Amino acid sequence: MNIHNARFLLSGVKKEHYPVSTMPEVAFAGRSNVGKSSMINKILNRKNFARVSATPGKTATINFYDIDKKLMLVDLPGYGYAAASKGERKALSDIINEYLTERKQLVQLILLVDSRHKPTEDDRRMMDTIKSAGGMAVVIATKTDKLSKRELEENLDRIIETLNLSDGDILLPFSTKTAESAENFWDYIYDYILF
Ligand code: GDP
Repeated sequence: MNIHNARFLLSGVKKEHYPVSTMPEVAFAGRSNVGKSSMINKILNRKNFARVSATPGKTATINFYDIDKKLMLVDLPGYGYAAASKGERKALSDIINEYLTERKQLVQLILLVDSRHKPTEDDRRMMDTIKSAGGMAVVIATKTDKLSKRELEENLDRIIETLNLSDGDILLPFSTKTAESAENFWDYIYDYILF
C-alpha cells in the first residue's frame, strides 16, 4: 500500500468553517457507531486520528483530512443516535445537509453501513441523496470480520437490495482486522477519484 501523508486540517460545523481548498473531496456518512472513525484510522494507518467513540453520537463536527495535498477526506457526523433529542437530530441533519448542498468540492459521498445489519430508513434517505446527485453510489460495509463468509454474502445481498444498488455502483466490504480492506479502498480512490 502507498504511504499517505495525511494531515488533520480542521473541524467545523458550518460552511464558514470549511477549509479553503480546490482539492476534490470524498466524504463519509453513516450511522453513529457504524465504524467510521475506525475505518478512517485504518485507511490512514493511524491509531487515533479520527476519534473512536466510546459514547456514540458525541462528535457532531465535520472533520477535514488533507491527503498528500491531492485529496480531502471528509468525516461527516454520524446520524441516527437513538438517545439524541429531537433538537440534536435537527442540528445534526442541518450540519450534514449544509455540507452536502453547499460544498462544490464534493465529488463522492460514501455511505457506510454495518455489514451485520439491514440498512435503516436514515441510510436509505442518505442513499437517495447520493443518487439524486447523479453518478455512482459507493457503499462501505463495515465490521465484516464479525460475520462468517456465508453470513457476509447474505448480508451483502441484503444491502444491495435495501439500498437498491445497481451494476455501476460499488460495494466495498471493510474490516479493520485486515490490510486488504484499506488496500481496496485506495484502489477505488485511484481508479475513480485520482485517476
Ligand atoms: P463511529 O461512531 O462510526 O466512528 O464508530 P467507531 O469507529 O467508534 O466504532 C464503533 C465500534 O465498533 C468500536 O467499538 C470499534 O472498535 C468497533 N469496530 C469498528 N470497526 C470494526 C471492525 O472492522 N471490526 C470490529 N470487530 N470492530 C469494529
